[in-house]
Amino acid sequence: MTKTGSRGNKPASSMTVVPPGTQSGMGWSHREGGLVTAGLGTQCIHAGAAPDPAYGAVTPPVYQTSTFAYLDVATSAGFEYTRTSNPTRACLEEAIALLEGGDSAACTSSGMSAVLVALNLLDSGSHLLCPMDCYGGTYRTLEHAKRAYGLEVTYLDMADLEAVEKALRPTTRMIWAETPSNPLLRLSDLSALSRISKAIDALLVVDNSFLSPILQRPFAWGADLVVHSTSKYLNGHSDVIGGAVVAAKGRPDLATRLAALNKTLGTSQSPHDCFLVLRGIKTLHLRMRAHESNAQALAEFLASHPGVALVNYPGLPSHPQHELAKRQQLGFGAVLSFELKQPTRSAINRLLRSLQWFTLAESLGGVESLVNQPATMSHASMPPELRERVGIRDGLIRLSVGLEDPADLIEDLRQALEAAAGKS
Ligand SMILES: *Cc1c(COP(=O)(O)O)cnc(C)c1O
Repeated sequence: MTKTGSRGNKPASSMTVVPPGTQSGMGWSHREGGLVTAGLGTQCIHAGAAPDPAYGAVTPPVYQTSTFAYLDVATSAGFEYTRTSNPTRACLEEAIALLEGGDSAACTSSGMSAVLVALNLLDSGSHLLCPMDCYGGTYRTLEHAKRAYGLEVTYLDMADLEAVEKALRPTTRMIWAETPSNPLLRLSDLSALSRISKAIDALLVVDNSFLSPILQRPFAWGADLVVHSTSKYLNGHSDVIGGAVVAAKGRPDLATRLAALNKTLGTSQSPHDCFLVLRGIKTLHLRMRAHESNAQALAEFLASHPGVALVNYPGLPSHPQHELAKRQQLGFGAVLSFELKQPTRSAINRLLRSLQWFTLAESLGGVESLVNQPATMSHASMPPELRERVGIRDGLIRLSVGLEDPADLIEDLRQALEAAAGKS
Protein backbone atom coordinates (compact mmCIF):
# COMPACT_ATOMS: atom_id res chain seq x y z
CA MET A 1 0.00 0.00 0.00
CA THR A 2 1.11 3.54 -0.64
CA LYS A 3 1.46 6.28 1.88
CA THR A 4 -1.69 8.36 2.02
CA GLY A 5 -2.06 12.08 2.01
CA SER A 6 1.60 12.71 1.22
CA ARG A 7 1.22 15.68 -1.12
CA GLY A 8 -1.22 18.40 -2.03
CA ASN A 9 -4.47 18.99 -0.22
CA LYS A 10 -6.06 15.70 -1.17
CA PRO A 11 -5.63 12.27 0.39
CA ALA A 12 -3.80 9.96 -2.04
CA SER A 13 -6.22 8.62 -4.59
CA SER A 14 -4.98 5.07 -3.93
CA MET A 15 -6.55 5.16 -0.47
CA THR A 16 -9.61 2.96 -0.34
CA VAL A 17 -12.26 5.01 1.35
CA VAL A 18 -14.62 2.65 3.12
CA PRO A 19 -16.53 3.40 6.29
CA PRO A 20 -14.87 1.44 9.10
CA GLY A 21 -16.61 -1.75 9.95
CA THR A 22 -17.95 -2.45 6.48
CA GLN A 23 -14.62 -3.33 4.85
CA SER A 24 -16.13 -4.36 1.57
CA GLY A 25 -13.07 -2.90 -0.14
CA MET A 26 -10.80 -5.51 1.43
CA GLY A 27 -12.85 -8.65 1.07
CA TRP A 28 -13.68 -9.12 4.77
CA SER A 29 -17.34 -8.34 4.46
CA HIS A 30 -18.37 -11.95 5.24
CA ARG A 31 -17.62 -11.25 8.89
CA GLU A 32 -20.27 -8.58 9.08
CA GLY A 33 -23.18 -10.76 8.00
CA GLY A 34 -22.07 -13.59 10.30
CA LEU A 35 -21.76 -11.33 13.33
CA VAL A 36 -25.48 -10.67 13.64
CA THR A 37 -26.14 -14.33 14.39
CA ALA A 38 -22.84 -15.05 16.20
CA GLY A 39 -22.67 -15.66 19.95
CA LEU A 40 -22.19 -12.74 22.33
CA GLY A 41 -18.53 -13.65 22.94
CA THR A 42 -17.74 -13.62 19.22
CA GLN A 43 -19.63 -10.35 18.92
CA CYS A 44 -17.65 -8.79 21.80
CA ILE A 45 -14.38 -9.58 20.04
CA HIS A 46 -15.27 -8.86 16.41
CA ALA A 47 -17.99 -6.17 16.57
CA GLY A 48 -16.76 -2.90 15.11
CA ALA A 49 -13.31 -4.43 14.81
CA ALA A 50 -12.95 -5.55 11.20
CA PRO A 51 -9.43 -4.75 9.93
CA ASP A 52 -9.05 -1.06 9.17
CA PRO A 53 -9.43 -0.19 5.48
CA ALA A 54 -6.35 2.06 5.35
CA TYR A 55 -3.59 -0.39 6.37
CA GLY A 56 -5.42 -3.46 7.67
CA ALA A 57 -4.79 -2.71 11.36
CA VAL A 58 -6.41 -5.51 13.36
CA THR A 59 -7.28 -3.09 16.15
CA PRO A 60 -9.31 -0.03 15.14
CA PRO A 61 -6.87 2.90 15.07
CA VAL A 62 -7.45 6.01 17.16
CA TYR A 63 -8.39 8.61 14.57
CA GLN A 64 -7.26 11.44 16.82
CA THR A 65 -8.21 14.26 14.51
CA SER A 66 -10.76 17.05 14.75
CA THR A 67 -11.28 17.41 11.01
CA PHE A 68 -10.98 15.43 7.76
CA ALA A 69 -9.72 16.51 4.34
CA TYR A 70 -12.33 16.53 1.59
CA LEU A 71 -11.53 14.36 -1.46
CA ASP A 72 -12.78 17.07 -3.77
CA VAL A 73 -15.08 20.07 -3.74
CA ALA A 74 -18.26 19.01 -1.90
CA THR A 75 -17.03 15.40 -1.65
CA SER A 76 -15.88 14.13 1.73
CA ALA A 77 -14.44 10.70 2.44
CA GLY A 78 -17.41 9.97 4.67
CA PHE A 79 -16.18 11.91 7.70
CA GLU A 80 -15.93 15.69 7.98
CA TYR A 81 -15.63 16.78 11.59
CA THR A 82 -15.19 14.66 14.72
CA ARG A 83 -18.01 16.18 16.77
CA THR A 84 -20.36 14.88 14.06
CA SER A 85 -18.69 11.55 13.35
CA ASN A 86 -15.31 9.86 13.60
CA PRO A 87 -14.10 6.45 12.34
CA THR A 88 -13.03 5.23 15.81
CA ARG A 89 -16.35 6.30 17.30
CA ALA A 90 -18.17 4.67 14.37
CA CYS A 91 -16.49 1.36 15.29
CA LEU A 92 -17.63 1.64 18.91
CA GLU A 93 -21.15 2.67 17.90
CA GLU A 94 -21.37 -0.31 15.59
CA ALA A 95 -20.14 -2.63 18.35
CA ILE A 96 -22.59 -1.40 21.00
CA ALA A 97 -25.54 -1.42 18.57
CA LEU A 98 -24.70 -4.98 17.54
CA LEU A 99 -24.27 -6.20 21.13
CA GLU A 100 -27.60 -4.70 22.22
CA GLY A 101 -29.33 -5.96 19.06
CA GLY A 102 -30.32 -2.39 18.17
CA ASP A 103 -30.44 -0.34 14.99
CA SER A 104 -27.55 1.98 15.85
CA ALA A 105 -25.90 3.78 18.73
CA ALA A 106 -24.71 7.29 19.54
CA CYS A 107 -21.64 7.29 21.80
CA THR A 108 -21.42 10.18 24.24
CA SER A 109 -18.85 11.76 26.53
CA SER A 110 -20.48 10.32 29.67
CA GLY A 111 -23.45 8.32 30.85
CA MET A 112 -25.04 11.60 31.90
CA SER A 113 -24.69 13.06 28.41
CA ALA A 114 -26.34 9.87 27.10
CA VAL A 115 -29.24 10.56 29.49
CA LEU A 116 -29.33 14.18 28.27
CA VAL A 117 -29.40 13.13 24.60
CA ALA A 118 -32.28 10.71 25.27
CA LEU A 119 -34.25 13.37 27.19
CA ASN A 120 -33.76 15.83 24.35
CA LEU A 121 -35.98 13.64 22.18
CA LEU A 122 -38.88 15.12 24.19
CA ASP A 123 -40.63 18.42 23.56
CA SER A 124 -41.11 20.84 26.44
CA GLY A 125 -44.29 20.12 28.36
CA SER A 126 -43.85 16.36 27.89
CA HIS A 127 -44.39 14.14 30.91
CA LEU A 128 -42.01 11.38 31.91
CA LEU A 129 -42.20 8.58 34.47
CA CYS A 130 -39.01 7.73 36.33
CA PRO A 131 -38.21 5.31 39.15
CA MET A 132 -37.86 7.11 42.48
CA ASP A 133 -34.66 5.17 43.14
CA CYS A 134 -33.03 6.14 39.84
CA TYR A 135 -29.33 6.94 39.49
CA GLY A 136 -28.53 10.13 41.44
CA GLY A 137 -27.20 11.93 38.36
CA THR A 138 -30.33 11.07 36.39
CA TYR A 139 -32.42 12.55 39.21
CA ARG A 140 -30.32 15.74 39.12
CA THR A 141 -30.65 16.00 35.32
CA LEU A 142 -34.42 15.51 35.46
CA GLU A 143 -34.77 18.15 38.17
CA HIS A 144 -32.78 20.49 35.93
CA ALA A 145 -34.90 19.59 32.90
CA LYS A 146 -38.07 20.42 34.85
CA ARG A 147 -36.82 23.98 35.39
CA ALA A 148 -34.94 24.54 32.14
CA TYR A 149 -36.95 22.57 29.56
CA GLY A 150 -40.42 22.49 31.12
CA LEU A 151 -40.37 18.71 31.37
CA GLU A 152 -42.86 17.18 33.80
CA VAL A 153 -41.63 14.24 35.86
CA THR A 154 -43.36 11.76 38.16
CA TYR A 155 -41.08 9.65 40.36
CA LEU A 156 -42.60 6.37 41.42
CA ASP A 157 -41.98 2.76 42.31
CA MET A 158 -41.59 1.16 38.86
CA ALA A 159 -42.24 -2.28 40.34
CA ASP A 160 -45.79 -1.15 41.16
CA LEU A 161 -47.50 -1.42 37.76
CA GLU A 162 -50.79 -0.10 39.09
CA ALA A 163 -49.02 3.06 40.25
CA VAL A 164 -47.45 3.34 36.79
CA GLU A 165 -50.85 3.10 35.06
CA LYS A 166 -52.33 5.66 37.46
CA ALA A 167 -49.50 8.14 36.88
CA LEU A 168 -50.01 8.26 33.10
CA ARG A 169 -51.15 11.55 31.60
CA PRO A 170 -52.20 12.50 28.06
CA THR A 171 -48.77 14.15 27.77
CA THR A 172 -46.73 11.12 28.94
CA ARG A 173 -44.11 10.56 26.25
CA MET A 174 -41.43 8.54 28.01
CA ILE A 175 -41.11 5.81 30.63
CA TRP A 176 -37.62 5.61 32.12
CA ALA A 177 -36.53 2.28 33.59
CA GLU A 178 -33.41 1.36 35.45
CA THR A 179 -33.34 -2.30 36.31
CA PRO A 180 -31.92 -3.51 38.61
CA SER A 181 -32.02 -0.21 40.46
CA ASN A 182 -29.24 1.45 42.37
CA PRO A 183 -28.46 0.77 45.22
CA LEU A 184 -31.42 -1.42 46.27
CA LEU A 185 -31.36 -3.82 43.29
CA ARG A 186 -35.10 -3.61 42.68
CA LEU A 187 -36.35 -4.83 39.31
CA SER A 188 -38.86 -3.37 36.88
CA ASP A 189 -40.85 -5.72 34.66
CA LEU A 190 -39.74 -4.61 31.21
CA SER A 191 -42.32 -6.46 29.14
CA ALA A 192 -45.14 -5.02 31.27
CA LEU A 193 -43.68 -1.51 31.00
CA SER A 194 -43.33 -1.95 27.26
CA ARG A 195 -47.02 -2.90 26.96
CA ILE A 196 -47.98 0.21 28.91
CA SER A 197 -45.72 2.53 26.92
CA LYS A 198 -46.80 1.13 23.54
CA ALA A 199 -50.47 1.59 24.41
CA ILE A 200 -49.94 5.35 24.84
CA ASP A 201 -47.30 5.72 22.14
CA ALA A 202 -44.60 6.67 24.65
CA LEU A 203 -40.95 5.63 24.48
CA LEU A 204 -39.61 3.02 26.90
CA VAL A 205 -36.01 3.86 27.78
CA VAL A 206 -33.93 1.32 29.72
CA ASP A 207 -30.69 2.25 31.47
CA ASN A 208 -28.79 -1.03 31.06
CA SER A 209 -25.55 0.08 32.78
CA PHE A 210 -25.86 -2.39 35.67
CA LEU A 211 -26.07 -5.58 33.61
CA SER A 212 -24.69 -4.80 30.13
CA PRO A 213 -26.02 -6.57 27.02
CA ILE A 214 -24.40 -9.78 28.24
CA LEU A 215 -26.83 -10.13 31.15
CA GLN A 216 -29.91 -8.18 30.01
CA ARG A 217 -31.48 -7.62 26.57
CA PRO A 218 -33.96 -4.72 26.91
CA PHE A 219 -34.87 -4.70 23.19
CA ALA A 220 -36.07 -8.29 23.47
CA TRP A 221 -38.68 -7.03 25.99
CA GLY A 222 -39.85 -4.15 23.80
CA ALA A 223 -37.64 -1.21 24.83
CA ASP A 224 -37.33 1.62 22.30
CA LEU A 225 -34.02 2.96 23.59
CA VAL A 226 -31.19 1.59 25.69
CA VAL A 227 -28.95 3.97 27.62
CA HIS A 228 -25.51 3.10 28.96
CA SER A 229 -22.90 4.58 31.17
CA THR A 230 -20.03 2.85 29.38
CA SER A 231 -17.89 4.09 32.31
CA LYS A 232 -19.20 0.96 34.04
CA TYR A 233 -19.09 -2.61 32.70
CA LEU A 234 -18.76 -1.94 28.96
CA ASN A 235 -15.39 -0.30 29.48
CA GLY A 236 -14.88 -2.14 32.74
CA HIS A 237 -11.46 -0.86 33.73
CA SER A 238 -12.33 2.36 35.61
CA ASP A 239 -10.32 4.51 33.22
CA VAL A 240 -12.96 6.10 30.96
CA ILE A 241 -16.09 8.21 31.35
CA GLY A 242 -18.47 7.48 28.51
CA GLY A 243 -22.03 6.75 27.49
CA ALA A 244 -24.22 5.46 24.70
CA VAL A 245 -27.82 5.68 23.54
CA VAL A 246 -29.00 2.82 21.33
CA ALA A 247 -32.13 2.91 19.16
CA ALA A 248 -34.18 -0.25 18.68
CA LYS A 249 -34.30 -2.09 15.38
CA GLY A 250 -37.21 -0.77 13.36
CA ARG A 251 -36.70 2.73 14.76
CA PRO A 252 -34.25 4.30 12.29
CA ASP A 253 -36.17 7.55 12.92
CA LEU A 254 -34.91 7.55 16.50
CA ALA A 255 -31.41 6.59 15.35
CA THR A 256 -31.29 9.59 13.02
CA ARG A 257 -32.52 11.97 15.72
CA LEU A 258 -29.98 10.62 18.25
CA ALA A 259 -27.07 11.15 15.85
CA ALA A 260 -28.33 14.68 15.11
CA LEU A 261 -28.69 15.45 18.84
CA ASN A 262 -25.20 14.16 19.63
CA LYS A 263 -23.85 16.52 16.96
CA THR A 264 -26.07 19.44 17.98
CA LEU A 265 -25.52 19.19 21.73
CA GLY A 266 -21.81 18.51 21.29
CA THR A 267 -22.00 15.45 23.54
CA SER A 268 -20.10 13.00 21.33
CA GLN A 269 -17.25 10.92 22.75
CA SER A 270 -13.56 11.50 22.06
CA PRO A 271 -11.82 9.05 19.69
CA HIS A 272 -9.31 7.94 22.31
CA ASP A 273 -12.00 7.17 24.87
CA CYS A 274 -13.95 5.27 22.18
CA PHE A 275 -10.84 3.20 21.52
CA LEU A 276 -10.54 2.33 25.22
CA VAL A 277 -14.20 1.31 25.51
CA LEU A 278 -13.83 -0.86 22.39
CA ARG A 279 -10.86 -2.57 24.02
CA GLY A 280 -12.86 -3.12 27.19
CA ILE A 281 -15.72 -4.70 25.26
CA LYS A 282 -13.45 -7.44 23.91
CA THR A 283 -13.53 -9.18 27.32
CA LEU A 284 -17.02 -8.08 28.38
CA HIS A 285 -18.55 -11.57 28.14
CA LEU A 286 -15.80 -13.13 30.28
CA ARG A 287 -15.75 -10.31 32.80
CA MET A 288 -19.53 -10.31 33.34
CA ARG A 289 -19.58 -14.03 34.10
CA ALA A 290 -16.65 -13.77 36.52
CA HIS A 291 -18.09 -10.63 38.18
CA GLU A 292 -21.37 -12.45 38.64
CA SER A 293 -19.92 -15.61 40.10
CA ASN A 294 -17.91 -13.56 42.62
CA ALA A 295 -21.01 -11.52 43.53
CA GLN A 296 -23.13 -14.63 44.07
CA ALA A 297 -20.48 -16.07 46.42
CA LEU A 298 -20.28 -12.81 48.39
CA ALA A 299 -24.07 -12.41 48.57
CA GLU A 300 -24.40 -15.93 49.97
CA PHE A 301 -21.62 -15.31 52.47
CA LEU A 302 -23.20 -12.05 53.66
CA ALA A 303 -26.70 -13.55 53.85
CA SER A 304 -25.41 -16.26 56.19
CA HIS A 305 -23.39 -13.88 58.39
CA PRO A 306 -24.85 -13.24 61.87
CA GLY A 307 -23.86 -9.55 61.79
CA VAL A 308 -25.79 -8.81 58.58
CA ALA A 309 -29.48 -7.85 58.72
CA LEU A 310 -30.32 -8.03 55.01
CA VAL A 311 -28.72 -8.46 51.60
CA ASN A 312 -30.14 -7.01 48.37
CA TYR A 313 -29.05 -9.21 45.46
CA PRO A 314 -31.37 -10.59 42.74
CA GLY A 315 -29.41 -13.86 42.68
CA LEU A 316 -30.58 -14.80 46.19
CA PRO A 317 -33.85 -16.76 46.41
CA SER A 318 -34.78 -14.40 49.28
CA HIS A 319 -34.86 -11.43 46.85
CA PRO A 320 -38.55 -10.51 46.39
CA GLN A 321 -38.13 -10.47 42.60
CA HIS A 322 -35.81 -13.45 42.22
CA GLU A 323 -38.23 -15.16 39.82
CA LEU A 324 -38.55 -12.03 37.65
CA ALA A 325 -34.74 -11.75 37.64
CA LYS A 326 -34.46 -15.34 36.40
CA ARG A 327 -37.00 -14.70 33.66
CA GLN A 328 -35.92 -11.24 32.54
CA GLN A 329 -32.14 -11.31 32.97
CA LEU A 330 -29.46 -13.64 31.67
CA GLY A 331 -27.60 -13.28 34.96
CA PHE A 332 -27.82 -11.47 38.28
CA GLY A 333 -25.00 -8.95 37.91
CA ALA A 334 -22.31 -7.93 40.37
CA VAL A 335 -23.69 -5.06 42.43
CA LEU A 336 -25.20 -5.85 45.81
CA SER A 337 -26.06 -3.95 48.95
CA PHE A 338 -26.49 -4.93 52.57
CA GLU A 339 -27.26 -3.59 56.02
CA LEU A 340 -25.65 -4.40 59.34
CA LYS A 341 -27.75 -5.62 62.27
CA GLN A 342 -26.15 -2.88 64.41
CA PRO A 343 -25.73 -0.06 61.88
CA THR A 344 -24.22 2.51 64.24
CA ARG A 345 -22.05 5.15 62.66
CA SER A 346 -18.96 3.82 64.39
CA ALA A 347 -19.64 0.22 63.31
CA ILE A 348 -20.08 1.34 59.69
CA ASN A 349 -16.92 3.44 59.84
CA ARG A 350 -14.97 0.49 61.29
CA LEU A 351 -16.28 -1.73 58.50
CA LEU A 352 -15.41 0.72 55.73
CA ARG A 353 -11.94 1.43 57.16
CA SER A 354 -11.08 -2.24 57.70
CA LEU A 355 -11.71 -3.42 54.16
CA GLN A 356 -8.49 -4.21 52.32
CA TRP A 357 -9.53 -5.15 48.78
CA PHE A 358 -12.68 -3.02 48.52
CA THR A 359 -11.73 0.59 47.78
CA LEU A 360 -14.03 3.21 49.30
CA ALA A 361 -15.18 4.89 46.10
CA GLU A 362 -18.22 5.71 44.00
CA SER A 363 -18.88 4.01 40.67
CA LEU A 364 -19.08 0.34 39.77
CA GLY A 365 -18.36 -2.10 36.99
CA GLY A 366 -14.56 -2.10 37.08
CA VAL A 367 -12.23 -5.04 37.62
CA GLU A 368 -11.44 -3.82 41.16
CA SER A 369 -13.95 -4.20 43.98
CA LEU A 370 -15.43 -1.00 45.40
CA VAL A 371 -17.47 -0.21 48.49
CA ASN A 372 -19.81 2.76 48.76
CA GLN A 373 -22.09 4.21 51.42
CA PRO A 374 -24.93 5.54 49.21
CA ALA A 375 -26.40 7.95 51.80
CA THR A 376 -23.12 9.89 52.11
CA MET A 377 -21.65 9.25 48.65
CA SER A 378 -23.50 8.30 45.45
CA HIS A 379 -26.97 9.37 46.69
CA ALA A 380 -25.95 12.31 48.88
CA SER A 381 -27.68 14.76 46.50
CA MET A 382 -31.05 13.04 46.95
CA PRO A 383 -33.25 14.85 49.53
CA PRO A 384 -33.16 12.86 52.83
CA GLU A 385 -36.99 12.45 52.82
CA LEU A 386 -36.89 10.85 49.37
CA ARG A 387 -33.96 8.65 50.44
CA GLU A 388 -35.97 7.55 53.46
CA ARG A 389 -39.09 6.87 51.33
CA VAL A 390 -37.06 4.84 48.84
CA GLY A 391 -35.32 2.85 51.58
CA ILE A 392 -31.75 4.12 51.22
CA ARG A 393 -30.90 4.15 54.92
CA ASP A 394 -27.66 5.52 56.35
CA GLY A 395 -26.54 1.98 57.22
CA LEU A 396 -26.84 0.70 53.66
CA ILE A 397 -23.53 -0.44 52.15
CA ARG A 398 -23.16 -1.09 48.40
CA LEU A 399 -20.53 -3.32 46.88
CA SER A 400 -19.35 -3.40 43.27
CA VAL A 401 -17.83 -6.84 43.18
CA GLY A 402 -14.66 -6.99 41.10
CA LEU A 403 -12.61 -9.78 39.64
CA GLU A 404 -10.24 -10.54 42.52
CA ASP A 405 -10.10 -14.11 43.88
CA PRO A 406 -13.43 -14.71 45.62
CA ALA A 407 -11.74 -16.31 48.65
CA ASP A 408 -9.78 -13.10 49.26
CA LEU A 409 -12.91 -10.97 48.96
CA ILE A 410 -14.86 -13.17 51.38
CA GLU A 411 -12.01 -13.20 53.89
CA ASP A 412 -11.82 -9.40 53.61
CA LEU A 413 -15.54 -9.00 54.33
CA ARG A 414 -15.30 -11.50 57.20
CA GLN A 415 -12.56 -9.59 58.99
CA ALA A 416 -14.22 -6.21 58.32
CA LEU A 417 -17.55 -7.44 59.74
CA GLU A 418 -15.67 -8.62 62.82
CA ALA A 419 -14.05 -5.20 63.12
CA ALA A 420 -17.48 -3.59 62.74
CA ALA A 421 -18.77 -5.71 65.61
CA GLY A 422 -15.81 -4.49 67.68
CA LYS A 423 -14.15 -7.88 67.83
CA SER A 424 -10.75 -6.89 66.56
C1 LIG B 1 -22.90 5.79 36.38
C2 LIG B 1 -24.29 5.74 35.91
C3 LIG B 1 -24.81 6.75 35.11
C4 LIG B 1 -24.02 7.99 34.73
O1 LIG B 1 -22.91 7.69 33.97
P1 LIG B 1 -21.55 8.56 33.94
O2 LIG B 1 -20.74 7.82 32.96
O3 LIG B 1 -20.99 8.56 35.32
O4 LIG B 1 -21.91 9.93 33.50
C5 LIG B 1 -26.12 6.62 34.65
N1 LIG B 1 -26.88 5.54 35.00
C6 LIG B 1 -26.40 4.56 35.80
C7 LIG B 1 -27.27 3.41 36.14
C8 LIG B 1 -25.09 4.62 36.27
O5 LIG B 1 -24.65 3.65 37.07
